[in-house]
Amino acid sequence: MTAAQGSVRRTARKPGSQSALRQSNQRRIVDLLQNVGPSTQAEISRRTGLSAATVSNIVKVLNDLKLVEITPTTSSGRRAVSVRLLGDSTAVAGIDFGRRHVRVVISRLGFQVVAEQAVTLPIGYAALDGLKRASELLDALLEEHGMARSSITEVGVGIPGPIDVRTETVVQGSILPEWVGVTRAVVEKALGIPAVIDNDANLGALAEVTWGAQTGTANLMFVKIGSGIGSGLILNGMVYRGHVGISGEIGHSSMSDAGLVCRCGNRGCLETVASTSVIIELLSRGLPVPLSTAEVVRQALEGDPATLRVIDDVGAVVGRALANSLNLIGPELIVIGGSLAELGEILLGGIRRGLMRYAVPVMGENTSVVMSSLGDRAEALGAAALAIRQISLSH
Ligand SMILES: [Zn+2]
Repeated sequence: MTAAQGSVRRTARKPGSQSALRQSNQRRIVDLLQNVGPSTQAEISRRTGLSAATVSNIVKVLNDLKLVEITPTTSSGRRAVSVRLLGDSTAVAGIDFGRRHVRVVISRLGFQVVAEQAVTLPIGYAALDGLKRASELLDALLEEHGMARSSITEVGVGIPGPIDVRTETVVQGSILPEWVGVTRAVVEKALGIPAVIDNDANLGALAEVTWGAQTGTANLMFVKIGSGIGSGLILNGMVYRGHVGISGEIGHSSMSDAGLVCRCGNRGCLETVASTSVIIELLSRGLPVPLSTAEVVRQALEGDPATLRVIDDVGAVVGRALANSLNLIGPELIVIGGSLAELGEILLGGIRRGLMRYAVPVMGENTSVVMSSLGDRAEALGAAALAIRQISLSH
């Protein structure tokens, strides 16, 4: 690598400088070439509805990545460019760390998922232990699919905590306090692969517009309800990260001055009344061992009245907090992710009620609220999408 390339690479490190929409358009073009075979740029433009300039730009990036071959041809007597998808020998990994799990996804640059697996981790695990486990899982998946580790050219890593993009460091406020102070360089060294790190809710949002049912949505809010509550924003087709890289901290919306003290130091934050930890605590009173989130979900699906009551209350208060965000930014879609996604309408009912009660009516009526179609895979897929984007940026 030349010094000039090196400097391009360093400035390209900051996530978010490429439109999320461009990436979803890139995926649409790759999908089209897979489905219909070699096509001219004009055909791609016609079939995808993308402008000729957009198609031309994306084809150039795909060509630089050696994902396509372009050859001059003629179409209806005019000069044209034919685009053919090539076999894809390089890949990226997406890794998502949670409070008690790590999930690894291997994807081709053309967005085909090759392998995926999640394993549980002990609560309170050290960051380096988590990274070591992720590295072992990645090796196991690569071996299973006959791939060399060198075929992974970039890794995206999702961490459930705020990341200061200026220093690429996990800062105070993570639900994994053991990760505070961890930098991208630490992650990169532990994995031995060029890495980019991001907040898990941002990655969930990116996954929804890249892999999910919401491909191409320009204004979307992804809300992850887990041990903490965070949100990722896609605004005008871009992941929105705010001034220092931290935004969407909806879990710390103040709901009550006299509420419980939150881990952020404030009182009465949304998280103190609506996280999965709160649900578990409320429903585990008197039990010898606290329930798991999966057991809470099962009880709700079986119609247990206390569980349904607690979930409905949580939904309503999340909806109320969302109404404030909705009034401010006016997204067209809110996607709910996290481990409660399986609850579907049981949770969405309360959320919609809270939203409609507190949002400006016309905004509430024109915003859809849906469960993530990606479930607990969203963040790892988003991490893979971020890694693919990082590679595209360096071309
Ligand atoms: Zn708080």
